[in-house]
Amino acid sequence: MRVVFATSEVSPIAKTGGLGDVCGSLPKVLRKMGHEVAVFMPYYRQARQWFDRNGIVPHQLLPTVVISWANWIAEATFLRATLPGSDVPLILVANDYFFEREQIYARAPDGNDDFLLRYTFFCRAVIRACELLDVAPDILHCHDWHTALLPLYLDSGLRGSPQFARTRSVYTIHNLHYQGAAGADAFELTGLHSRYWAPDALEHFGQLNPMKGAILFADEVTTVSPNYAREIQTREHGAGLDGVLRAVSHKVNGILNGIDVDEWNPATDPLLPAHYDADSLRDKTKAKRALSKEAGFRFSAKRPIVGAVSRLVDQKGFQLLIPVMRRLLHAGARLAILGSGEPELENALVQIASEHPDDCRVWIGFDNALAHRIYGGADMLLMPSMYEPCGLNQMYALRYGTLPVVRLTGGLADTVIPFDGTNGEVANGFGFVAAHPFDLYLATWVAMLNFKDGSVWKTLQANGMACDFSWERSAATYDAVYRRALQS
Ligand code: ADP
Repeated sequence: MRVVFATSEVSPIAKTGGLGDVCGSLPKVLRKMGHEVAVFMPYYRQARQWFDRNGIVPHQLLPTVVISWANWIAEATFLRATLPGSDVPLILVANDYFFEREQIYARAPDGNDDFLLRYTFFCRAVIRACELLDVAPDILHCHDWHTALLPLYLDSGLRGSPQFARTRSVYTIHNLHYQGAAGADAFELTGLHSRYWAPDALEHFGQLNPMKGAILFADEVTTVSPNYAREIQTREHGAGLDGVLRAVSHKVNGILNGIDVDEWNPATDPLLPAHYDADSLRDKTKAKRALSKEAGFRFSAKRPIVGAVSRLVDQKGFQLLIPVMRRLLHAGARLAILGSGEPELENALVQIASEHPDDCRVWIGFDNALAHRIYGGADMLLMPSMYEPCGLNQMYALRYGTLPVVRLTGGLADTVIPFDGTNGEVANGFGFVAAHPFDLYLATWVAMLNFKDGSVWKTLQANGMACDFSWERSAATYDAVYRRALQS
């Protein structure tokens, strides 16, 4: 099968979250399964810098071409590299005006929000590149709102072009809350026929909604965990699109993300100060010792370090932690938190850390190496998410023998089996349901109680470390979805 990915992020080249992780890993596993895979992404400044740092020069594939649609016209240059550690072609779409910006998701130089225009350009450029390079995809795999117009372009006559005559589309929702919605007047940016300005296409209560369009027009829809696939079809978690999702529930699939088990391996991770596996958990203490030192704590084997690595935004639920943080520290926890995001959350966390320098450390920023040291050195990892499409951190933590304490929502409920005192043969963490600070406190407190019982703790660690979160398992399910799309 020939599969073309169109995505806004690819890890490690340019990433802000789980979307990048998926599009950096899944294509490589599909390739190993025998599929022919190519990945398209924008050539952001961050991507250029990544290639510079790694001494790689992507080569230009074609002379620069002019992409025109509706009233717009823009130049695109196509560069070719490969996904790191593989021979999967990575085709970078370059246009300095759209992509040479300080951040991946930055406004136009004039301060305007031109997100819809830049990603419409990107979608158009992907189509043009396939035509010029004579790439005929069996599956066009689109991700999140940035590439949501592609299934509609396929429907709107693109199948007349020989490269797309047999192409089927698969659309993956990584986060339903970012829908790319814009005012009605933005519809003309798409260059689509007015037939697509309708409630059964891109219009959603008077607004343009690319995510809705893709859900309706893709041949198959997937999201990143089975539980999230169910939740988004409810009013509570549907972000206004639950009705649309229910209407097409026959083609909505929940496929749990995998993790890169080579990169995230405590036995070999070069970013860890000590190595260990399930049979040598005693050596995890060395990682804890190092993290204690880095955080400014006096080492204590008896006091658990509760870690967190996260974007600090409402979704991640740190507003539940802040009111009970002092109480948790009083109860004996130590907190090691790495994150960045909304200033109010950052300030509140930093304030509490400054009051408890011996027991609480907050790092504001994005630091992959420190993230690894926290997963390795902490005893528990806190994820109090309000919603969580899949969540990767709890899987990293489980693999590192660090027990997750999570709010049981989305993919967290698919991956963390909370210990209830009777299910020691399967449990691998702790959980709570109500989005309330006291419930978070209680779940963490129960975890701390169990931490005191070395044999229970070891059993739960072993259960977690034995979980199979490899991409191979998930990729087989994507393969089945692709086959279904081809039959539609
Ligand atoms: P989301 O995509 O919603 O942010 P995920 O759990 O799916 O959440 O993925 C988050 C990814 O980003 C993980 O790889 C996590 O380790 C990483 N990450 C988040 N915040 C930071 C940070 N401040 N420093 C380093 N890595 C981070």
